[in-house]
Amino acid sequence: MRLTILGSRGSLPSPGKDRLLFGGDTSCLRVSAGGDTLFLDAGTGLLQAEVSGMKELTVLLSHTHIDHVMGLAMFAPLYTKGCCLHIYGYGPDDGMPLREQVGRLLSPPLWPVRLEACPAQVHFHDLTGPENLGKFQIDWMPSCHPGGAVIYRLRAQGRTLVYATDFEHEYSAWQKLIQFADRADLLLYDAQYTQEEYERHRGYGHSTAEMGIRTAEACHASRLVLIHHAPWATDEMLLEREKKLGVHYARQGETVEL
Ligand SMILES: [Zn+2]
Ligand SMILES: [Zn+2]
Repeated sequence: MRLTILGSRGSLPSPGKDRLLFGGDTSCLRVSAGGDTLFLDAGTGLLQAEVSGMKELTVLLSHTHIDHVMGLAMFAPLYTKGCCLHIYGYGPDDGMPLREQVGRLLSPPLWPVRLEACPAQVHFHDLTGPENLGKFQIDWMPSCHPGGAVIYRLRAQGRTLVYATDFEHEYSAWQKLIQFADRADLLLYDAQYTQEEYERHRGYGHSTAEMGIRTAEACHASRLVLIHHAPWATDEMLLEREKKLGVHYARQGETVEL
């Protein structure tokens, strides 16, 4: 299994010359296994994806907060006749279907082109249980995040990846995540805040690098990569934390082989 980080910024895009190493594009990962490819989230990082010639694309959304869907607005396959997009996700607490959630962004006044007017075929799949997509076995659990989100576990070719973005380590959710991510080969974990920032942002639905370390230890994950960097976190700040804590923050453009 091969993972490419196309965007690892959280909340809003954050470009700038002091963010070139970790990147400014929001949440999007490409995962490939044995010729099958899918995308985790569709933040602005989606626009970095090489998709020419791809006629059928699959996107798994953790949720539809803007940083996880805004890449769809300018995603070339959506505007290409003959392309087919399968978008998977889970309705939030109020039960709004996924199509309607994404349609809120892709409609005036927020965006000039309505989803229904896009030339591609778009199929929405509201998650109800585990899915098998090509080489991938997909499982998911509810995250602890305002409005709801899901944490994905992907298995392919004997390897396991867990994508725990937009997650706050409330105790019972944290215990469930430890079980869900048991012996993952790779744990991607929301580390938006420093400990001090977290104290000021309790209930915002994000976590810390320190909790990422504790989680990876508790679930015996082989590897930990921290994601969803705060918009205000500069390269210098993240490098300093890496040195201090012995962790690794995802870099836009980086590839991880499992
Ligand atoms: Zn987010
Ligand atoms: Zn969110």
